[in-house]
Amino acid sequence: MVNSIKYNFAKTGAKLSSSLLKILPTGGKSFPGLVFLKIGEEEALYDLANKQVEKGSILITGTNGKTTTTTMIIKLLSKDFKLAASVGNNTINALATALLKQKAEFGVFEYGIRDIKHGVPDKVSRLVKPVGVIYTNISREHTQVAGIKNPFEKYVEAKTLLSQSVENGVIITNGDDPNTTFIGKNKETNNKVMYYGLELKEFEDIFEEEKVQCPNCKKELNYDVHYINQRGIYHCDCGFKRPELNVKLTEYTQNIDSCDVTIEANVYNHHKKTDIQYTLQLHLPLVGIHNLYNILTAITAYTAFSINDNIKETLQEFFENYEFIVPPGRFELLEVGDKIVGVGQGDNGDALKVNSLYMKDSIKNNLEFIYTTPDANEEEIFEDHKSSIKALNPEKLIVMPGRVSLEASEAYYDQLKDTFNSEYIPIEFDFQQRIDKIIDLIKTSEYDSIIISGCGEEIVFWDELKKAIKKI
Ligand SMILES: [Zn+2]
Repeated sequence: MVNSIKYNFAKTGAKLSSSLLKILPTGGKSFPGLVFLKIGEEEALYDLANKQVEKGSILITGTNGKTTTTTMIIKLLSKDFKLAASVGNNTINALATALLKQKAEFGVFEYGIRDIKHGVPDKVSRLVKPVGVIYTNISREHTQVAGIKNPFEKYVEAKTLLSQSVENGVIITNGDDPNTTFIGKNKETNNKVMYYGLELKEFEDIFEEEKVQCPNCKKELNYDVHYINQRGIYHCDCGFKRPELNVKLTEYTQNIDSCDVTIEANVYNHHKKTDIQYTLQLHLPLVGIHNLYNILTAITAYTAFSINDNIKETLQEFFENYEFIVPPGRFELLEVGDKIVGVGQGDNGDALKVNSLYMKDSIKNNLEFIYTTPDANEEEIFEDHKSSIKALNPEKLIVMPGRVSLEASEAYYDQLKDTFNSEYIPIEFDFQQRIDKIIDLIKTSEYDSIIISGCGEEIVFWDELKKAIKKI
């Protein structure tokens, strides 16, 4: 696509900038990639991706679980390959930086996309030309990007574009999620599409779920069961339905502090050009439904792209020894005196539901919910949040702004105030002031169980808040 002289020059320039990294004050993470793309022009990324990585690359995207899933996939596939890999990318510069690090046999990259303009998923797809794209799920979050409304359809389209260039590859997608299933259905002509999900006979959902639109015909989907948010077993009059699963969780037994799961797999392997079948029984810590999905995604990805002869045994050994860690800012249950306090970010509908499920099992006698609201133009997120608040049905509800707009926050409060014993506390966009107020609320609360979650502008807000709570 570009001549090799230009390609080599671009690569040398970027290598040099790598050595400057140590002294760059900020923004160093994507700098070598930025230099590479500036010198070599963006088209040079095509040569970089295809010369640096022998057997091709896979990209992982979605709304929830990208980082956890990518981390698992990297650890698993590094048993088979010399990998080029990175987590947390959401720009083409970061991706180029990751590709520049070393020559590799296989590439595994997380790629987060909020909108087409910032994520350029069509360009990334064309230039990286991945052999596989992995979708976790697509639910409503960040419906506003850089002050501009980003409708859900556009958000889905942005994620869809990431697999636009994939041919004769493997698309791995969440079959329980109609949005990611629809992406998969449209890729079946040129690719193997592998669906994963839950196939549980008895499942009780505590949330009142919103109506979900059929991605194919826009009518309302019918659900036999909702697992969480839009994920479940669904069908539509137009024929669109939850697909046959290639990797499915068929049994789940919860013990006091652990769980036992059965997972059945029948997955096409990209390198071996054959289907791999096995049944896996895993004994795991109590990891929550979101991590069960992360595990299914990683299992499907490893089975599709491994060159190992003992895929099942490798997975067994890996997951039974895996340390599930709580990423920064995420929900945690803390003991504060004789109170139990659940705290952490819940920026999208899914996240707050997962937090609420955790909290629900730990409520002692009565609950106070300190809810931090979304911003202006984020009504969709608020709608999802509302079903979590309803499911927990707190004795006391405190509403505070979580993002910038105080007007928007008060308008959300107006929609809640008559349903709950509630109070609105307007605090301007200042982390420290908001943290101080929350600490004060915890100290003076009359309730023995408190959940603090919702939107917050930065992970650091939740991390600082958790630190402050631990000091009480
Ligand atoms: Zn339909």
